Amino acid sequence: MQHRKVDVAIIGAGTAGLAAYQATKAHTESVALIERGPAGTTCARVGCMPSKLLIAAANAAQHTRHVERFGIDIDGTVRIDGEAVMTRVRSERDYFVGHVLDSMARIPEQDKYRGHARFADANTLVIDDQIRLEAERIIIATGSRPTIPEPFQLAGDRLVTSDTLFEWATLPESVVVFGPGTTGLELAQALARLGVRVRLFGRHGSLGILSDDVVRKEAERIFNEEFYVDTQGDAKIIERDNHQVIVSFTERSTGNTLTERFDYALIATGRQPNIDALDLLNAGLKLDDKGMPSFDRYTMRCRNTDGQLSHIFIAGDVDNESPVLHEATDEGRIAGDNAGRFDSVYSSHRRSPLSIVFSDPQIARIGLSHAELSARYGDKNVAISEYSFDNQGRARVMGINKGFLRLYGEYGSGHFLGAEICMPQGEHIAHLLAWAHQQRMSVTQMLSMPYYHPTLEEGLRTALRDLSTRLLLDAALVEQCMECGPGA
Ligand SMILES: Cc1cc2nc3c(=O)[nH]c(=O)nc-3n(C[C@H](O)[C@H](O)[C@H](O)COP(=O)(O)OP(=O)(O)OC[C@H]3O[C@@H](n4cnc5c(N)ncnc54)[C@H](O)[C@@H]3O)c2cc1C
Repeated sequence: MQHRKVDVAIIGAGTAGLAAYQATKAHTESVALIERGPAGTTCARVGCMPSKLLIAAANAAQHTRHVERFGIDIDGTVRIDGEAVMTRVRSERDYFVGHVLDSMARIPEQDKYRGHARFADANTLVIDDQIRLEAERIIIATGSRPTIPEPFQLAGDRLVTSDTLFEWATLPESVVVFGPGTTGLELAQALARLGVRVRLFGRHGSLGILSDDVVRKEAERIFNEEFYVDTQGDAKIIERDNHQVIVSFTERSTGNTLTERFDYALIATGRQPNIDALDLLNAGLKLDDKGMPSFDRYTMRCRNTDGQLSHIFIAGDVDNESPVLHEATDEGRIAGDNAGRFDSVYSSHRRSPLSIVFSDPQIARIGLSHAELSARYGDKNVAISEYSFDNQGRARVMGINKGFLRLYGEYGSGHFLGAEICMPQGEHIAHLLAWAHQQRMSVTQMLSMPYYHPTLEEGLRTALRDLSTRLLLDAALVEQCMECGPGA
């Protein structure tokens, strides 16, 4: 076995690992970046980019289907060439992966290690049983992978996840999707829009990233106008027959038990951090009952079993906190900077929470989610306004008038606290709201900003006006009640 020594070792050359590498190099030349492959990052290879490419094709088809309402005759039905759709997805995906590989090629060879790394002790990694790498500081940036619960294994080679779906040569006739979270919802709707027969099933009522029941119910209603979504179903795969899976489920509208055949089962029931094959117990880190290291989100530094701060850092999806790209980049940069400058470790600024689901209407969560709000403020201490896009001017003009949002504001300060939205082109308003949240703007300050006419933002303004009124009126009521004394 070869022996090597470095200042900093980074396990995983994904988004977080590459950001960590760049930040570390500003402090020391002695860095090892270890990747077991395939390289190219989850985002570019099997995540953000190929999923958005499939969605782009799906939305183009959907838009074309609806142009007749504007008086445009498309002369017949939309014909989808599944092979051409998947070819574009893969060739554009390869373009994005190529960019990542090009930037990795610029990393000096002596810094790059290929193989699976695991801890031999707190300062030693073993790579593929070939190299013993001693490192003064170590960054864990190993990402996550799809989970496949045992009952779905019945689908055999008809089972796909987001790791394998983009390799399809063409579009199948039918797909059952399990898991209505971000990935399941985005891909189910895209496939349905591309002419695939789709049913989407969940178990516990959740949809996308929504924790606000009012928005969630409205979203489920809207998506059901387009394809079958049951977030609280009892669907299960009962058999694999020839080249199909057979699924039984209770149909929501009739209560009848149905069995249906599908070409594929897409399992999108969640992802698990790549922490289990690292021999973490040898690293002396404090782990919770799920084997996850305890860490500080402002320094990305882990803690040892004795409670002392460790020289080991963690970043990206592997920490299971905010599994989105911009957070993985930030965490990688923070971990890399601190591991590089060790042991003067700095706390870094973290951005306001922002997550987006690229469904249509788009779903987004900004600032405090409704669930976090309830935990922090209780049920009564925040003002909530809501707004429907069903008759919003610009949305009607464009024929995309479906959607709903809820905004949350704090009594006293009048601060905007957060929002959950399911609205047309919601990614843009989600950004405006996230920027306002990070600036700790009050609802009054947000209302003093310019709103052009006619835009979707005017719908947001109406919701903010309502929130502003509620903050004043409800706060007055709370004060009155307080004056009424206990028990009033
Ligand atoms: C279908 C899908 C769609 C998505 N869409 C979006 C989106 O639209 N917007 C968004 O913001 N986010 C999206 N995401 C999330 C985003 O892709 C992730 O947050 C981001 O890629 C995480 O980066 P990472 O560096 O933590 O992990 P990765 O990029 O997965 O990097 C981890 C690396 O570690 C390597 N590795 C693991 N274990 C070891 C080991 N023991 N030794 C050596 N190497 C190891 C792996 O091979 C991998 O290359 C999506 C994800 C998926 C799956």
